[in-house]
Amino acid sequence: MNRDSRDRELGMDRRITRRDFLNGVSLALGGSVLASSAGQMFALEETKSPYQPEKDPAYYPPALMGMRGNHDGTFTYAHQLRDGDFSQDASKPEDTGEKYDLVVVGGGISGLAAAYFFRQQASPKSRILILDNHDDFGGHAKRNEFRVGNRLLLSNGGTQSIENPSEYSDVSKRLLQELGIETQRFYKDYDQKLYAKLGTACFFDHETFGEDRLVAGMNSTPWPEFVKQTPLSDVARRDIARLYTAKTDYMAGLSREEKRAKLAKISYADFLTKVCGAHPDVLPFFQTYPHDLFAVGIEAISALACYENPDDYNAMTYAGFDGLGLGEVEEEEPYIFHFPDGNASIARLLVRSLVPGSIHGQTMEDVITARCDYGRLDNPGAAVRIRLNTAAVRARHAGPSESAKEVEVAYMRGDKLFSVKGAACVLACYNMMIPYLCPELPEPQKDALHLGVKEPFIYTHVALQNWMPFHKLGIQQVVSPGSYHCLTKLDFPVSIGDYKFPSKPEEPMVLFMLRTPCKPGLPRRDQYRLGRYELMTAPFSTFERNIRDQLQRMLGDAGFDSARDIAGITVNRWAHGYAYEYNSLSDPDLPLEQRPYVIGRKQFGRISIANSDAAASAYTNAAIDQAYRAVQEQIKNT
Ligand SMILES: Cc1cc2nc3c(=O)[nH]c(=O)nc-3n(C[C@H](O)[C@H](O)[C@H](O)COP(=O)(O)OP(=O)(O)OC[C@H]3O[C@@H](n4cnc5c(N)ncnc54)[C@H](O)[C@@H]3O)c2cc1C
Repeated sequence: MNRDSRDRELGMDRRITRRDFLNGVSLALGGSVLASSAGQMFALEETKSPYQPEKDPAYYPPALMGMRGNHDGTFTYAHQLRDGDFSQDASKPEDTGEKYDLVVVGGGISGLAAAYFFRQQASPKSRILILDNHDDFGGHAKRNEFRVGNRLLLSNGGTQSIENPSEYSDVSKRLLQELGIETQRFYKDYDQKLYAKLGTACFFDHETFGEDRLVAGMNSTPWPEFVKQTPLSDVARRDIARLYTAKTDYMAGLSREEKRAKLAKISYADFLTKVCGAHPDVLPFFQTYPHDLFAVGIEAISALACYENPDDYNAMTYAGFDGLGLGEVEEEEPYIFHFPDGNASIARLLVRSLVPGSIHGQTMEDVITARCDYGRLDNPGAAVRIRLNTAAVRARHAGPSESAKEVEVAYMRGDKLFSVKGAACVLACYNMMIPYLCPELPEPQKDALHLGVKEPFIYTHVALQNWMPFHKLGIQQVVSPGSYHCLTKLDFPVSIGDYKFPSKPEEPMVLFMLRTPCKPGLPRRDQYRLGRYELMTAPFSTFERNIRDQLQRMLGDAGFDSARDIAGITVNRWAHGYAYEYNSLSDPDLPLEQRPYVIGRKQFGRISIANSDAAASAYTNAAIDQAYRAVQEQIKNT
């Protein structure tokens, strides 16, 4: 079949809501499209000035589909600064005359939390400005909305869940409580029974495994029976069954500490073949197990990290460790602390608190369906203002950093360079960008910050007319180690307040598909770098074709029809996703004070550094804790 007819069969020519808006180019708007991200979706009269897309009543980013995440327009100026191509003179911005007690760069959870803490500790009347280069606030904690018929479906564009909330610091726990989040509520709101009878299937693709075959019962059928149904070679079947069932101590003779030390320095791939003696044919089956957590495969992650981080939620239980006698892995809390839009609800609760009237209501229930009024986020006269579609390009002390009383922050909005002043400044943005914002920082600090480049991910959400094929197959998710997306699963079964999860298979559903664009075999940082490049260059149509093709091949025999059943697609492209996390396999084991993220986050006069990057930990509690630390540093100045 040629590509055109395959495309037609998959529905590449079908209308899906808003698909006309691709890669930041509106097919309908033609010449009135603005260069910035907001221009991607909102027609503005060209005469309207100043540039204020958020005031348009039609402005509502959560409902946008197509390419989201780090959408077009967000990285233009950052990359120009990096490449030395920034054409404006950053030292000569147009002064807006605005003065704040605090200017925050980055409107993710860390930046919003910094504003919250500062207002709480400095003064409830503090004047605060938050700048963010995306068209929506929340950073990774973004909300995706779909409408299928009359049904509203929510999903998380990035930051998914509150993980292990009992392990949050007192500061983070207190913030959640003050925002009205009772994590215990999820034991009731999250339906832990709905999917209990639905299992996991593994999809073996023709390109990697020689034929397309979907095998249900992964992790529930005894492994020797499960592998018999797969297209794997006889030796691979034999060894996978052995690795999962035999309780062999493959490291006999070593103490527990010696085993751990060795596992920390060997990849999981090498552990399987060199320590457990498995045939290399098993490797493609396990290759993508760590993708969700580490954004690379088994050849780039230590066996110890795999042992310590079994991904039970996604059914990725690592084989080969059972007989080693390493002791029990600490039991985690269930993975149920999930708002229907993920941790976007935390960001929205912060915004509700910071900008009264922007999101109506008072509780963690009513925030789910409350619509944000984006037009109110940046009102003159408000104590706290959130300025979206605004990329900071410079943060500079007005005078020597030791004695200056102000920081001038210059930013691009529309295609103009402006500045504001703040008595304090928290940079809660991507840490690797900070050396370009503050070239005056000491060189070792800039070198350290440059190392914190985030890891790339794609969180795609596909709105389906129904989820009958999953019901028919008795599965809630598909693991697909050789495919474009390595994991596909039904959305979280959580109902809060007026928002009801689609619990019947005939109802519309959101499907989550994960792609990690790593390049196996290369050093980890290079894998991320090339992955980011892939994300920046692949057009939406590449994602769409792969989504349709993969779903058809996996679920077609169960009645799924890509052309008929797909109602919407949102590709959350996080070229800068998880904070770079240190790994014993590829990073030196340095004392805390010598670690790059610790050197990088050092206070610089009236500028402090937050973001989860500053903890090298891709978690919401890290984002909050770093915000708190940064604010403490600045409070001392007030
Ligand atoms: C796909 C994905 C899933 C995740 N899932 C989870 C999860 O389930 N649980 C969990 O705890 N954590 C999760 N995380 C980790 C997540 O990064 C943190 O939990 C948290 O949301 C990070 O918040 P932050 O404010 O530190 O950073 P960010 O969310 O990255 O926010 C920083 C903001 O600063 C902006 N910015 C950068 N440079 C500039 C500039 N020059 N000018 C203006 N703005 C700028 C950025 O664009 C961004 O909006 C996930 C991350 C990703 C990518």
